[in-house]
Amino acid sequence: MMRVIFLGPQGAGKGTISSRVSAKLKIPHISTGDLFRDAIAAQTPLGKEAKKSIDQGKLVPDLITNALIREHVEKKRCKKGFILDGYPRNISQAKSLDSFALPTQVILLDIPEQVSIERLAGRLQCKICKRVFNINAREDDKPQVIKQRLAAYRAETEPIVDYYKKQKKLHRIDATPTVEIILKKIFRVLC
Ligand code: ADP
Repeated sequence: MMRVIFLGPQGAGKGTISSRVSAKLKIPHISTGDLFRDAIAAQTPLGKEAKKSIDQGKLVPDLITNALIREHVEKKRCKKGFILDGYPRNISQAKSLDSFALPTQVILLDIPEQVSIERLAGRLQCKICKRVFNINAREDDKPQVIKQRLAAYRAETEPIVDYYKKQKKLHRIDATPTVEIILKKIFRVLC
């Protein structure tokens, strides 16, 4: 049974890397960001609710997010395990997850803040295939917004690192090398 969580700041490569790990281990990849975007596109009640928060740059309320994740991980296809990308994002979500599905391993994709900023300044996500592309963005505007999201990560998500460290589930992986190198290190930890 593998219930793997990916943690790391925006731009660390969580989406790309966790999808690759999911394909290799043949366990579902569950991304809260993708689930919310799909729900918004389908204009479901949940999507409409989530859109209110996302449009303001806020987290979707825990009650909604926890219920959504619970619904997904309790599906039959997750019987052999799952990979979570973007959840938990604060201590309250981590505690909620513990109440319905205990994680087995936590992978922290670690990068210096400056590298995060550089990567995010040039990224675009395809709405259809979810692939992330890089463009040469202008250096001026976005960094301020990016810094805000990184600050939110530090304040709300970083405390989870200690939470899982205390449970001896945390594996810190340097996320600055190439995807192939990062994957090799992750498989050494997981397999
Ligand atoms: P990013 O990490 O760059 O913000 P994501 O695709 O992970 O992008 O998430 C997009 C948005 O969806 C977030 O800004 C947030 O509003 C919402 N979201 C994603 N995951 C969660 C979560 N675990 N709890 C609450 N809101 C979330």
